[in-house]
Amino acid sequence: MENFDGLGLSSLVTSNLAGLGLHKPTPIQAEGIPALIAGRDLLGLAQTGTGKTAAFGLPIITRLIEQNRRPNPKTVRALILAPTRELATQIADNLTAYAQGSPIRVFRVVGGASIFVQSERLARGVDVLIATPGRLLDLLERRALSLAETRFLVLDEADQMLDIGFIHALRRIAGLLPEQRQTMLFSATMPKLMEELADSYLRNPVRVQVAPPGQPVEKIDQGVHFVNQGEKAALLAEYLAKHPGELALVFGRTKHGSEKLSKLLTNWGFSVGSIHGNKSQGQRERALASFRSGEVQVLVATDVAARGLDIPEVRHVYNYELPNVPENYVHRIGRTARAGRSGRAVAFCAPGELAELRGIEKTIKKAIPVIGGDAPVGMPEPSAGRSGGGRNGGGGGGKSYGRGGAPKGGKPAFKGPKPAAKHAKVASEGGNARPARRPSRRPKSEQAA
Ligand code: AMP
Repeated sequence: MENFDGLGLSSLVTSNLAGLGLHKPTPIQAEGIPALIAGRDLLGLAQTGTGKTAAFGLPIITRLIEQNRRPNPKTVRALILAPTRELATQIADNLTAYAQGSPIRVFRVVGGASIFVQSERLARGVDVLIATPGRLLDLLERRALSLAETRFLVLDEADQMLDIGFIHALRRIAGLLPEQRQTMLFSATMPKLMEELADSYLRNPVRVQVAPPGQPVEKIDQGVHFVNQGEKAALLAEYLAKHPGELALVFGRTKHGSEKLSKLLTNWGFSVGSIHGNKSQGQRERALASFRSGEVQVLVATDVAARGLDIPEVRHVYNYELPNVPENYVHRIGRTARAGRSGRAVAFCAPGELAELRGIEKTIKKAIPVIGGDAPVGMPEPSAGRSGGGRNGGGGGGKSYGRGGAPKGGKPAFKGPKPAAKHAKVASEGGNARPARRPSRRPKSEQAA
């Protein structure tokens, strides 16, 4: 498919796309848009970065324009459900740009913002509403809106909505929607519960799969660095210092730990923001905006930011702590190598995280090349085999790694920083082990997590 003509989209939408620099449909758009224009339900098995927002957004806007009517008060013509506030905001921004110059109005409701202001806006009726399930239910309970006239429904990142416990909300919302509607469900993975959800929501859907679910984007240069928990912060500082001016997303596991890490990195002279559940909506939006604009180069986040975030300039993803749900690794690293660019993902694996690493490798069905540090002796090999070396030298058992020894075995596939021989740290590309900005002090053991 050479361009967007011939997919059945409104000419206004097509000309908006050209203005946004989108000229050629991605595979999910080329396959999905004609089916959606024809009124079919759709099950999209697609990773983030595939262009799925436009795949559902463009046909919905086209069909709403064609219907040529205004929404009735307190009604919503199309409803899009997304798991996180950030994703909902991003979808709203994209759809607003696609609908530019048309009468279609897009509105977003998420938690953390005034429910009164949202209710007031809904009173006039909305063409396209993007919502997180929890806030939508609150609004429905207050009778701020009705879904009786909703003819289009999108469940985006549906597997994450299940992960974060929105299943009851989704079931309740489904009961309030008319039978006569067109439904689109997008999910990167297809666990059993997801199949059930898809069966109950979709009618004879077209199934579009653009990449195997649960597999990270091929373009991402992945590596694992074995490092003791207490040495992670200094190691991260070295990686960051090697790539000044490039955007890096750092994932921690807990809100508290992520906040602490972001403060520590700030003290060390990095320009850092953070996003996690303890931050207000305003703080989260500001942090994201500063990161997006490049004002802040490092964003430390919990899995709140693992999905859906689309910032093409993100060059590095650091899994400072490995996620305990292996699929989240796929989502986290999918924040880089977007929109045709390259990206790197480095996993920091402490002795206590070997089980998580194995789980991740099983999920992605391949071994992540070792780019630094030594794995403990006896670390079982994943079934897919391991391409890098370093799992057999100088290990310190389950509690901490030994300090000696660069990775052994074959040359790691990762082209980024190489570990220094002594301390399982990063050497700069020119062979100079000192980072451009050196941390002023070493972190206390474990405290940076
Ligand atoms: P998504 O998978 O919806 O999060 O989209 C990922 C990124 O791809 C966004 O930055 C979109 O603007 C971009 N994108 C979507 N469709 C296209 C297209 N046809 N050509 C180029 N980039 C696109």
